[in-house]
Amino acid sequence: MFAQRLKNLQPYKPGEQPKDIEYIKLNANENPYLPSPKIKEVLKDFPFEKLALYPDPDSHELKCAIAQSLNKTGGVLVPAENQPALDFEITEDMIFCGNGSDEVLSFVFYAFFDNDKPLVVPEFSYSFYPVYAGYYNIDLCKVPLNEDFSLDVESMLDVDSTGIIFANPNAPTGLALSFEKIESMLKIYPKDKVFVVDEAYADFSGYTALPLLKKYENLLIIRTFSKSMSFAGMRLGFAVGSPALVAALTTTKNSFNHFPTDAFCQAASIVACSDIEWYSENCRKIMRTRDSFCKTLSDSGWNVIPSSTNFVLVSKKGISGKVVYEAIKKKGILVRFFDIDIIRDFVRITIGTDEQMQKLLDIMKKI
Ligand SMILES: *Cc1c(COP(=O)(O)O)cnc(C)c1O
Repeated sequence: MFAQRLKNLQPYKPGEQPKDIEYIKLNANENPYLPSPKIKEVLKDFPFEKLALYPDPDSHELKCAIAQSLNKTGGVLVPAENQPALDFEITEDMIFCGNGSDEVLSFVFYAFFDNDKPLVVPEFSYSFYPVYAGYYNIDLCKVPLNEDFSLDVESMLDVDSTGIIFANPNAPTGLALSFEKIESMLKIYPKDKVFVVDEAYADFSGYTALPLLKKYENLLIIRTFSKSMSFAGMRLGFAVGSPALVAALTTTKNSFNHFPTDAFCQAASIVACSDIEWYSENCRKIMRTRDSFCKTLSDSGWNVIPSSTNFVLVSKKGISGKVVYEAIKKKGILVRFFDIDIIRDFVRITIGTDEQMQKLLDIMKKI
């Protein structure tokens, strides 16, 4: 009754969503702030008859809106002072849209990674990468992290690979490689292999590799509306890369699902792109809350990994991550604990509002 291949699947496990009591959810890196109020109007006024028709399969208007907003901001919502400028125009044919970046990633694995050589990933990064590798039967070369949890870039580049993918900033460590480091990797990496940087959290770091697209046609950058754009429930992710890479993703999409972004999603996301100020302000708030939360926690004796994201990985000497997670859950707040050796001592905490983080601090100071 079941296909042979089903036996080999090891599905991704998302953060829990228990229904027993109303928890403060700081376990899935969701944004605590609302999407732009302008979106309410779009949804209210959405032409009812449009639901009977197929949406634009290529999200044409949406891709233009995304390109325009990237050109306007320079690539991230709150660019750091020394983030290099975007000195060229990102055009529609450099954007690919999908049903969340998870789906975009699935197309990336299908389109660019073969099974003759291994795909290079950090041993510890977004846990969906091994899931897709299993799904498409792609060998992985998992390169261990350095002692301080940073990526071992030299070893990653040493592998004769079919491609490379990592999250920058990385998850769930929250650490980022600098723009210069990414460029130095691209200089060495073979030009006929695709180099994928998953920038799900780039907006919270102030840095993006987007300016490098001008020089490196094998660079593909993955983005999502789920985190910095408060749209995890809407499902929109996108890739930015050379027109050739985007065309390959489009071929893959059209061989699987013609319409990954529905009419509602396209309409709402276009308006989201027109209110960048709203999201920049929220992003700034989250970065501020993160920095003060990390400082207070660290002053209270916790080990805090420096974060360039909207979450932070923390531990306390002598207490396992599971015990910390359970103590916090008992008080009505959900954080994420990982049943994986090298971070067994840690919990990952999503940055919420100041008020939520104060509640959490009061709990954590007593642990
Ligand atoms: C959250 C996340 C994604 C997935 O985002 P969706 O667009 O919600 O599918 C991809 N990569 C990383 C590193 C993430 O943390």
